[in-house]
Amino acid sequence: TDIWNSVPLPSLDSIFKMTLAYNIDKHPAKVALVMGVYKDDDNCPWVLPVIKKATHILLSNPDLDHEYLPVRGLPEFTDAAAKLMFGPTSPALVDGRVVTTQTLSGTGANHMGALFLNRFYPWVGTKQIYLSDPTWPNFYAIVKNVGIEPLTYPYYDPKNIALDFDGFLGTLQTAPRGSVFLFQACAHNPTGIDPTADQWKQIAEVVINRNHFAFFDCAYQGLASGDLDKDAWAVRYFVEKNIPLLVCQSFAKNAGLYGERVGALHIVLSNKDAATQVRGQLAVLQRSEISSPPSHGARLVSLILTSADLFNEWTHDIKTMRSRLIAMRKELHRLLTEEFHTPGNWEHIVNQVGMYCYTGLNPDQSKALTDKAHIYLLDTGRISIPGLNSKNIRYCAENLDKTAR
Ligand code: PMP
Repeated sequence: TDIWNSVPLPSLDSIFKMTLAYNIDKHPAKVALVMGVYKDDDNCPWVLPVIKKATHILLSNPDLDHEYLPVRGLPEFTDAAAKLMFGPTSPALVDGRVVTTQTLSGTGANHMGALFLNRFYPWVGTKQIYLSDPTWPNFYAIVKNVGIEPLTYPYYDPKNIALDFDGFLGTLQTAPRGSVFLFQACAHNPTGIDPTADQWKQIAEVVINRNHFAFFDCAYQGLASGDLDKDAWAVRYFVEKNIPLLVCQSFAKNAGLYGERVGALHIVLSNKDAATQVRGQLAVLQRSEISSPPSHGARLVSLILTSADLFNEWTHDIKTMRSRLIAMRKELHRLLTEEFHTPGNWEHIVNQVGMYCYTGLNPDQSKALTDKAHIYLLDTGRISIPGLNSKNIRYCAENLDKTAR
């Protein structure tokens, strides 16, 4: 017998399961509404024009080398990424209260953030972190990997297909003082439902009163409102209120740099006294994990963030992606309500934001869509909007209509 024979077979993440099934499906009309990646109207990956331009600039430098980056990353990148998140004139940045580390995209930022908390957060009792119910499933694996127990707070109200704000606030109020809460900064995955500015203010108030720690994950900056600053509003508001927090930042979606693994972890301190120690310990953790982060994506993003022209072009590209997402939402809504007269309320399709739509379909209906029409979505009824395009949207709406009757 082999020493590995006792290794248990893992249960596959539902996203991977559905993607595998989609890939082997031979049906000509099959539709992938599972993976959270942007596609153009031809269902092809979209390399942002600004990324093409930045790549050309980068690669035409004859002195481009492949040396190691510093342990905490490319300084031009970490500085510019922090400015993008907090605003260039943020007092936290001006005061030197933000410690930034370049990470392996958003996943790496979440891992490093959880690892750092596990080691250094002043835990009272068990190490636990509250995740929204539902959330991106990988958060569970990420926090468990570093020895933190995941708990949940109510987020989604299935009856009204809306935010369960009372439930959310209730858990914030009853959780032990000093608890850690993971908040998605914008374009919530999987529900597409974000708190309003007024609700964020109420959340912040309870977080302050209960002395909680805010663990922000920001994987979709720009893709909710189309505006990078607006999508960072909640994070900036918490910083303004001097709430202890960290932010995980990803450039996978908003710059289309999925495979380049470019992201950052920002830890915001209430004063700069501890900055040197925090910076040092992050470097120690990073060194043991990856020694130093990859350079290519960080160089591309720092070019874009430090050139006014490229930055402008990037904001334009983000608007292009976001406009297509909105157009697909509007068209799906129009087809269901005006053409097929599908029973029920479908307003949430246009009210939700970002890449995902929680359709309200139950697991049986979701499964029926896959089995009967070869339309692949999660059994929670979540669809990834970029999988819709002008060629397949009528087919999707027609079958959604049949399933919802
Ligand atoms: N957070 C959320 C909510 C996500 O949906 C994702 C990707 N699906 C990530 C973080 C991390 O993505 P990446 O590691 O590619 O930046």
